[in-house]
Amino acid sequence: MNAPIAHPPQADLKPDAKADSGTTPVMAQFLAAKADQPDAILFFRMGDFYELFFDDAVKAAAALGITLTKRGKHHGEDIPMAGVPVHALDGYLARLIRMGFKVAICEQLEAPAEAKKRGHKAVVHRGVVRVVTPGTLTEDSLLDARGANRLAAVAIRKGRAAVAVVELSAGAVDSVACDLGDLGAALAAFRPSEVLVPDRLFSDETLKGALDGSGGVVQAMPQALAEPVGARDRVQRLYGVSALDGFGAFEEAEVSALGLIAAYLETTQAGKIPALAPPRRSGESGFLAIDPATRLSLEIDRTQRGERDGSLLHCIDRSVTSGGARALAERISRPLRDPTAINAGLDAVEWLLERRDLRRDLRDGLRSSADVARATSRLALGRGGPRDLAAIRSGLTTAQGLAGLFAAATRDPLAGPPARVLACLDRLTLDAELSHLLADLGDGLIEEPPHLARDGGFVNPGHRPELDAARTLRDDSRRVVADLEARAVAESGVAFKVRHNAVLGYFLEASAKAAEGLLRAGPDSPFIHRQTLANQVRFTTVELSELDAKISQAGHRALAMEGETFEAWRREVARLAGPLQGLAEALAELDAHAALAEWAEEVGAVRPVVDDSLCFDVEAGRHPVVEAAVTAQGDPYTPNNCRLAGDGQGVSRLSIVTGPNMAGKSTFLRQNALLVVLAQAGAFVPARAMRLGVVDRLFSRVGAGDDLARGRSTFMMEMVETAAILTQATPHSFVVLDEIGRGTATYDGLAIAWATAEALHETNRARTLFATHYHELARLEERLDHVCNLSMKAREWNGDLVFLHEAAPGAADRSYGVQVAKLAGVPSAVVGRAREVLERLESEKAAAARLDDLPLFAAVAEPAPTPMSSALDDAVAAIDPDELTPREALEALYRLKNLAKA
Ligand code: ADP
Repeated sequence: MNAPIAHPPQADLKPDAKADSGTTPVMAQFLAAKADQPDAILFFRMGDFYELFFDDAVKAAAALGITLTKRGKHHGEDIPMAGVPVHALDGYLARLIRMGFKVAICEQLEAPAEAKKRGHKAVVHRGVVRVVTPGTLTEDSLLDARGANRLAAVAIRKGRAAVAVVELSAGAVDSVACDLGDLGAALAAFRPSEVLVPDRLFSDETLKGALDGSGGVVQAMPQALAEPVGARDRVQRLYGVSALDGFGAFEEAEVSALGLIAAYLETTQAGKIPALAPPRRSGESGFLAIDPATRLSLEIDRTQRGERDGSLLHCIDRSVTSGGARALAERISRPLRDPTAINAGLDAVEWLLERRDLRRDLRDGLRSSADVARATSRLALGRGGPRDLAAIRSGLTTAQGLAGLFAAATRDPLAGPPARVLACLDRLTLDAELSHLLADLGDGLIEEPPHLARDGGFVNPGHRPELDAARTLRDDSRRVVADLEARAVAESGVAFKVRHNAVLGYFLEASAKAAEGLLRAGPDSPFIHRQTLANQVRFTTVELSELDAKISQAGHRALAMEGETFEAWRREVARLAGPLQGLAEALAELDAHAALAEWAEEVGAVRPVVDDSLCFDVEAGRHPVVEAAVTAQGDPYTPNNCRLAGDGQGVSRLSIVTGPNMAGKSTFLRQNALLVVLAQAGAFVPARAMRLGVVDRLFSRVGAGDDLARGRSTFMMEMVETAAILTQATPHSFVVLDEIGRGTATYDGLAIAWATAEALHETNRARTLFATHYHELARLEERLDHVCNLSMKAREWNGDLVFLHEAAPGAADRSYGVQVAKLAGVPSAVVGRAREVLERLESEKAAAARLDDLPLFAAVAEPAPTPMSSALDDAVAAIDPDELTPREALEALYRLKNLAKA
């Protein structure tokens, strides 16, 4: 993924690129279309090509590596031009969109023949039919099947923030209202590919982190579009309702954000109204807040390098449909916060886990179903084809099959499906209209229809008698044409072949030599000359012309009838888009539940106990991703316990984790954070047992020294992120901090780490795992009530270091840095020398044990004693303030000042 590109509000159209009397009609048409789409690259349809002009041509040529040429002149200057063939559009679109461009598609809206009827010089009508942007894609060829593609909008009103999100390819809309501080987390949870912001916020530095952290292309929108009154009108228009109250009581910021989305859809979809479900509203309190830095650090749905491979999601994803994969991704990216809702999800997973046969049949059934959500949305937008109808048919068939599959289980009064599964089954039950649609498609649509409706050939014989009649006429006439060839050869003695092209229709063709005699024949000859080429001569006959006309008429009629049939189906799908999307969601949700059950069985995951307590208790937990990697290499994975409690009742709230490099500290930290994500996503957890008091905010930070992968390994960044935790973490939060304070000088870093740990313990009171190589922090255990030390065990064996990856109580006694260096292959001479130096330093340290005994900050702050300072000290000690007159006090002050200066 490229770095997000931010688009300024207005992109450049050459100021002189305006139509005037010298402009050709086509160029005037181009300039008018371009004026409406100044910040998009305009693909202007000219026959078999899309052509690009002026700056668009220059930009696209550079971005796509296509040739930049010239076409005509404008104001006396050459017009730069580039072009791409129509059939190659998708490939070029995909590349431009990935690079963050917007593309407007300007089509020919009539056949050239139509235009000619208006006069010889009439120009074909053209218009922008769509603006393609990263967040509004619907084509399978441009989308990732297993990932959602979302357009988000952000607005702020009266100190509250809102994020509105639309997934156009599935017709889903979300709206989240939150405090300003939670905006980054709320936005990142949706992983939008495009984010709309009013231009005032676009240039607001304080929002930069939240917007950049979303990973999407940020588009500035005119401020006016976010004004609540206009925004409300647009949203109402989008949904065809006269008030939004039926959808919930929206905050002003939410209406603004939804209004931005509505405005953007109006322009990019060129007036076509997508089939959208009502907005699902959720406050930030519904979800576990995970800010962008934490997401990155925990590699929840992408690794730090932006790949899916190696992320938590990739590791656990056992879904069998693309819809299921998207549902699972959503669940893992937006874990819940309400124990009741979390437990409902866990019930579903557990129920399916216990029914292996049913689960297998369910998954087999789902495998044959296609992407109903995306097919429905494309058809509703008028972009789908016959293959999308087949996808809907397969989804409906699957739904019908599943209802039968679950019938027996549903009747079981004792162990029937839990509420979540029942709700899915309910949506899979076909009502009369959906049953009718299925029957109609089953009867009328061929088994494997083509992608495009344009060429016909997808309606089953027998579905429409008049279509069959036209086809028979067309096909029979074709057979007569084939016979005609044999008769023509026999009659003329010339080796004719019947051929067809778009200009001449059917004709008889012979070599120039063979045709010599016929060309000389008189007017009575049945073979009428049509065309002479270099080596061939073409003829027709009266019979052939008649047949040709008949075939083409019948062909046109058949095609028109198939077009009508398609359009009728398409309209029916658009009308039933709501229930169809509901059905698609139910299929996806069942797939996601079953996938989690499948994974749980495979890795031996257990159901976590999730409640309202402040408890965090993991027995024999494992890191799912590291475990998979380690065991793939044939090594065992060491499970670890971890106990923390926010209320500190007998259990520590904060653990200081020490141990040598490579001992498994980071793995241990992330493992526990990931168990929180999994449990609150309603997934089972890889552990022997887990009890979790729901977490409101999850934070994970890696100190700057370790944070090279992100390419912004500055200490400042680290501190900004630490600040975010200290200002936001609550007693319900869960914090993992790995090597914080490492990016600065030792004492600085130690001091910051120390103060941070203290604050988390005393003020935030969050459950915290704090890994550090500052062994000094182990002393916090004695000073603070709810701190305990853990260390990752390692053993020295024959001069080598063996990592046990086991978290045990107590602090690490030493760093084993030299041993790690040896393991890493540092030459033995250097390792030997390091050992010598270490021994020296350690013996000196023992001599200066005084430092160890002092309280930490005293050790850092205490200035070296100097004779001068003692003279000053003596003078201060000699003063008795109670005995001084004001004048003596002033004199004493001057004296002290002079002493200090000396
Ligand atoms: P640290 O943060 O202490 O430097 P890491 O957590 O990065 O160490 O772990 C280093 C490596 O040790 C990991 O990449 C993994 O291969 C292995 N490892 C860590 N924890 C375990 C474990 N519990 N069981 C088995 N191997 C582990």
